[in-house]
Amino acid sequence: MQSTEGSSTNGFRCASCPKEFTTKYRLDTHVNRFHTAEDEQKRHPCPLCPYWTTFVSDLTRHLKGKHGVGASSSEQGGR
Ligand SMILES: [Zn+2]
Ligand SMILES: [Zn+2]
Repeated sequence: MQSTEGSSTNGFRCASCPKEFTTKYRLDTHVNRFHTAEDEQKRHPCPLCPYWTTFVSDLTRHLKGKHGVGASSSEQGGR
């Protein structure tokens, strides 16, 4: 058994999100899965919570269901 209690500074923190990992390997795996440059360009983050998706339709549905946003909005007025 290991006694790693209280060693909070031992964690590996993700630079792109608040997640923290106990090993560098886990952090690397997480970054590769969620924070690759390709994904960063494709994904659409929710402005109200840490949720994000690679599909605009999913984000729209999420905004409606979770935050009640855009339920009766006509269009996204640019500018
Ligand atoms: Zn992350
Ligand atoms: Zn959200």
